[in-house]
Amino acid sequence: MPDTIAVIGAGQMGNGITHVFAQSGYPVTMIDVSADALARGRSTIEKNLDRQVKKGTLDATAKDATLARITDSTDIAAIAGATLVIEAATENPDLKYRIFGDMDRLATPGAILATNTSSISITDIAAKTKRPEQVIGMHFMNPVPVMQLVEVIRGLATSDATTQRVLALAKAVGKTPVEVNDYPGFVANRILLPMINEAVYALMEGVGTVEAIDTVMKLGMNHPMGPLALADLIGLDTCLAIMEVLHEGLGDSKYRPCPLLRKYVAAGWYGRKSGRGFYSYQ
Ligand code: NAD
Repeated sequence: MPDTIAVIGAGQMGNGITHVFAQSGYPVTMIDVSADALARGRSTIEKNLDRQVKKGTLDATAKDATLARITDSTDIAAIAGATLVIEAATENPDLKYRIFGDMDRLATPGAILATNTSSISITDIAAKTKRPEQVIGMHFMNPVPVMQLVEVIRGLATSDATTQRVLALAKAVGKTPVEVNDYPGFVANRILLPMINEAVYALMEGVGTVEAIDTVMKLGMNHPMGPLALADLIGLDTCLAIMEVLHEGLGDSKYRPCPLLRKYVAAGWYGRKSGRGFYSYQ
């Protein structure tokens, strides 16, 4: 049976995941609690497809066919029938536990339940279901249509069969999967987020301006983007949530979130998605 996909969450990651599966020929249902988020998600996909057409990497008929493969819904019951459900809702453990309870109840038996979480334990999430062997982390990078990597995270109970299917599906949408184990932050964010958090400390302590810190890391370390610009792209709320998971999960004070990061999040300065973070995007 050909795979059909459901994606829960239509934010920057959810719409990107929807985009790549639909472009690779899979029917995709994109689900969000917010009708506005669904409308924004669809318009982002359309803009990104237009950009591909302009660049000559996609033809106009493929763009239309991609959009025609996407349906959307504000009702999580729309996951029924999907063979792979990918959860990409807000990075909040209790929210994800609740969503996985619903996914387990509503998804077809045999369907794989994947999460795009940046840091929350796959084993904990899987334990909220009656099918932990079919639960797995499928961690796409931002922006999803552009970035090659998918970090595939096995929970304690994840089966070999689930892992093999997810590795194959990641390859089928043109990505390079890398299999890792379930510890807080996995590999990508265990290493990336402490660097971003340290950049925020450097800013808070006045070691350098936003521009100085980012320029040092771009020109000095050959990073394509400075850590503060990258934090704005990820979303400062998501960065803080990941630091909290690392801090709590690893129990080491070196992972304490920077107070300035907390302050920005408290102010609603989430980065690009809210129009203001370390930089302004008005
Ligand atoms: P976002 O804030 O852009 O989008 C989150 C979406 O989830 C929103 O549209 C919100 O309405 C929706 N949502 C909230 N509760 C929901 C529910 N109960 N059911 C359905 N939808 C719900 O966030 P994002 O950046 O897309 O992050 C989503 C996930 O992807 C998080 O787990 C995050 O850690 C992970 N992630 C983010 C990045 C990144 O760079 N931003 C990279 C990799 C993974």
